[in-house]
Amino acid sequence: MNPHSTSRSGGAQDSPDPPDPADPEGPAVHEGAVHDVAVIGAGVVGCAIARELSGHDLSVALLDAHDDVGNGTSKANTAILHTGFDATPGTLESRLVRRGYALLSDYARATGIPVERTGALLVAWTREELDALPALREKAAKNGYAHCREVTAEEVYRRLPALGEGVLGGLTVPDESIICPWTTTLAFATEAQSRGARVLLGHRVTGVDGDGGEDRGDRDDGATNTGSGVTVLRTPHGEVAARWVVNAAGLASAELDRLFGYSRFRVTPRRGELLVYDKFARPLANSIVLPVPSSRGKGVLISPTIYGNVMLGPTAQDLDDPEATGTSEAGFDFLLAKGARLMPRLLEEEVTASYAGLRAAIDHGDYLIEADPARRYLVAGGIRSTGLSASMAIAEHVRELLTTAGLRAEPRTGLPAPPRMPNIGEAGVRPYQDQARIARDSAYGRVVCFCERVTEGEIRDACASPLPPAGTDGLRRRTRAMNGRCQGFYCGARVEALLDDGLAARREGQGAPSRERGHCAAPAPQPAATAPGEAPA
Ligand SMILES: Cc1cc2nc3c(=O)[nH]c(=O)nc-3n(C[C@H](O)[C@H](O)[C@H](O)COP(=O)(O)OP(=O)(O)OC[C@H]3O[C@@H](n4cnc5c(N)ncnc54)[C@H](O)[C@@H]3O)c2cc1C
Repeated sequence: MNPHSTSRSGGAQDSPDPPDPADPEGPAVHEGAVHDVAVIGAGVVGCAIARELSGHDLSVALLDAHDDVGNGTSKANTAILHTGFDATPGTLESRLVRRGYALLSDYARATGIPVERTGALLVAWTREELDALPALREKAAKNGYAHCREVTAEEVYRRLPALGEGVLGGLTVPDESIICPWTTTLAFATEAQSRGARVLLGHRVTGVDGDGGEDRGDRDDGATNTGSGVTVLRTPHGEVAARWVVNAAGLASAELDRLFGYSRFRVTPRRGELLVYDKFARPLANSIVLPVPSSRGKGVLISPTIYGNVMLGPTAQDLDDPEATGTSEAGFDFLLAKGARLMPRLLEEEVTASYAGLRAAIDHGDYLIEADPARRYLVAGGIRSTGLSASMAIAEHVRELLTTAGLRAEPRTGLPAPPRMPNIGEAGVRPYQDQARIARDSAYGRVVCFCERVTEGEIRDACASPLPPAGTDGLRRRTRAMNGRCQGFYCGARVEALLDDGLAARREGQGAPSRERGHCAAPAPQPAATAPGEAPA
């Protein structure tokens, strides 16, 4: 723990009462508590950072503007756990994606995050793309990944018979994997909270007071200090004070950076639209089909999803509006045209859903992760297309940069076991398939959402979990309810009623609901019970 801090490690226990949700302007409920570190942004990156830091002797607050974790870009991506084979060698992104792949693969086994090692096949459709394959293999080797292999067109069609005509060859990437992005973010946040971090949802940071800086009269080099040592973050629910601040606000990271006095980068929201095909399409694409990348990015791919569907996308369109997450007719047409070329048979299947995510593109060409020791501030920006894969390595890197900058962080002993997350992946055993579990608790035998086979027991568990959903969107990400073919047309009313009941039961059990999820007297997450290798992956 930072010796300058006035709060104790495991700040959740020391915190003042949570805000009254009925009073959105609420009092300044966080007055008095000074955290060692405040992390702004509870996407996959911020949650990973909060998890990492709370494994050390530090009091941590994790703030997000939304009423749930993982509600920004982290909920809408292509959900590939990248090896980093195609990153630009020598970049921070290359190093952190590679390390992140290893860390997240292990973490997924420990916590039950669904992962499937489907592998990927990079497909060349033109002579130019075919000629580029050897260089891509060499690039992969420079990125520390030596398992790519060039294959003939016959081999490509043997693996993926549904591909359109005209394939000239391919490159295999056997370790590319698909992962559940929702469970990943939730697992990080759940573990951070179980380690004592305060999860402050609905806490949009609107202003920054105080000069950060160092405490008066405390510098080894004898220079005069003028700083108070504390930065105060203003939110609609009061002020949150911290010795160090990490900006992991994704699309808003540049805006927040300016509140800290910087003007060093601009975020361009780059929209990626995707189509999700029905589960009948899954046999068509048992591995990820990648295009040969161009300077515009990774291009349009076809990928199986962890939930048993097939995905086509994403597009890449630069926008001005960081909230423009709607899909467009132009995007739909573009994807259909691409799909017709890549895999015509896919277009015969039904589209279950379409969605769009916004990449936080910056003009830097690499992640922008920099610490300012004088301001006690760190920005993690430009985490554009690979943040899910790199998240745990970014967190490790952030902790190292902070300690180099002066944060004292000793690893804690006696940490709680990592949470065991509910399996929502198709490759693992789901509750409706688990006879022994149903025999113990019949709620797992009562299917509510028939498209996705979600049971009453899972909805009840989600409501009772340490970080319950704030609404049906959050429930979808925790259980898959209403995510299937009917999109909630048949089950929506029943699912909503169960959600309302579950959240009401939770409130009755512990008093008023709280935006400060770190305060919930929720059941502790289940300790990891399985050994590596037993996860659904
Ligand atoms: C179409 C698409 C496909 C992708 N595919 C992949 C892939 O296959 N594999 C991969 O590894 N990566 C992929 N990515 C990239 C990955 O999704 C991102 O890098 C990652 O989600 C970024 O996470 P984040 O935590 O930085 O941002 P976010 O998830 O956006 O989180 C930032 C959070 O900050 C909060 N916030 C913002 N302003 C404030 C404020 N003032 N106060 C409080 N909170 C605030 C927001 O509410 C948000 O929750 C893809 C991205 C897109 C868009």
